[in-house]
Amino acid sequence: MTQVKCPICDKPMSFQARSEWPDFPFCSLRCKRIDLGRWFGEQYKLQGHDHTEDFHEENKSE
Ligand SMILES: [Zn+2]
Repeated sequence: MTQVKCPICDKPMSFQARSEWPDFPFCSLRCKRIDLGRWFGEQYKLQGHDHTEDFHEENKSE
């Protein structure tokens, strides 16, 4: 059995077929959105606005 880890929360998951895993490679839509938030954070950082720690806050509030 292939074990994969969510790149966001490090949660171990058993591998599923891509067709049954719309949020691949994330464990959930929530982690997918956090990853998107990181991307946007990087953009902001390039513009001189540092959002590096923001996703931790989002993690708690949801
Ligand atoms: Zn996750």
